[in-house]
Amino acid sequence: MRALTWHGRHDVRVDSVPDPEIVNPRDAILKVTSTAICGSDLHLYDGYIPTLRAGDVLGHEFMGEVVEVGRSVRKLAIGDRVVVPFPIACGACAACKAQSYSLCENSNPNAWMAEKFMGHSPAGVFGYSHMLGGFAGGQAEYARVPFADVGPLKIPNGLDDDKVLFLSDIFPTGYMAADFCDIQPGDTIAIWGCGPVGQFSIRSAFLLGAERVIAIDAVPERLKMAEQGGAETINYEKQNVYEALMEMTGGRGPDACIDDVGMEAHAPGLIFAYDRVKQAMMLETDRPHALREAIMCCRNGGVISVIGVYGGFIDKFPMGSVMNRSLTIKTGQAHVQRYMRPLLQMIENGEIDPSFVVTHRMSLDDAPHAYDIFKNKQDNCIKVVLKPDWDGNEGAGAKDDSYTVVH
Ligand SMILES: [Zn+2]
Ligand SMILES: [Zn+2]
Repeated sequence: MRALTWHGRHDVRVDSVPDPEIVNPRDAILKVTSTAICGSDLHLYDGYIPTLRAGDVLGHEFMGEVVEVGRSVRKLAIGDRVVVPFPIACGACAACKAQSYSLCENSNPNAWMAEKFMGHSPAGVFGYSHMLGGFAGGQAEYARVPFADVGPLKIPNGLDDDKVLFLSDIFPTGYMAADFCDIQPGDTIAIWGCGPVGQFSIRSAFLLGAERVIAIDAVPERLKMAEQGGAETINYEKQNVYEALMEMTGGRGPDACIDDVGMEAHAPGLIFAYDRVKQAMMLETDRPHALREAIMCCRNGGVISVIGVYGGFIDKFPMGSVMNRSLTIKTGQAHVQRYMRPLLQMIENGEIDPSFVVTHRMSLDDAPHAYDIFKNKQDNCIKVVLKPDWDGNEGAGAKDDSYTVVH
């Protein structure tokens, strides 16, 4: 089959690789119909996540049709259309029973590698390094899905792939970030990062009852999409974020601050250079500018919700501000399986149509180009969906000239 494979920093290729096979009786094999490139794939693309190997198949946001099931699979049948959550979860361990699926204790066969970096291992994740299980990803024509009765969500006929694909990651991830904020009527939520997850956090904060959402980024098309979602915006290249937020909140600060940026933050001025240099010298692995700023801006007693991905160690962390001002930090990889059904219900009810975030639809064969324009924010690229069967003639671009179709 054809699949997107990693070969080194900024080097991904579509190669022919062996088809996946059932290796465990609880596996299913999917024919992938849609798969997306995630902001967290860029951390792999940029070479910041250890334990990737040349030839690894990337991709953890995918859906498709079941074409084969292991003999112990009960809930799925050949022909079912399913969306697959990115954390792999067994459904039976203590973490899964507590609905903390991204902490599944049974799904990472390489837990010992993660233990070296993090003390304990989180769940295995598709297409996200050997430290997280070495599972082949879904940016491919076919994918093997372990614990097939636990994760994959069956999709009723009639809902387009583009409306449900993001139940695999970015919608539940953005939603969980807002859910962490314990939003009360009248609350103002500030969100760092208006990439795809940030866009879903904006809309989720409103769905959960926020009165105001203030979104921070510097990319014009992302800020525009944030405003379309009802957010007020701050362009950090044009305004001092702290001063702007204090002015907008009567000097009090936002009730909760969401970090939807993670380890590769950009920032104006010296602090960015400081983090870049320390990261390049391996003195810190991550650039936590957004997190530092979120902490300093949050009101006393507020919540810091961290859903942007961090890989290792950070520097100049303002613990004094966290402790003295009674801030609560909540974080984690999304427990996607916990949110998929209620969020599908919202899509079916018409409360949200997640396809708003798609700016590009392309063939899987164009994936290297897609990584390039997504990474470099060219061509107004916010979110790319790859279709292994795409012939470029489905006319999706004709429906709405706010996005572009690249062949
Ligand atoms: Zn993702
Ligand atoms: Zn488990």
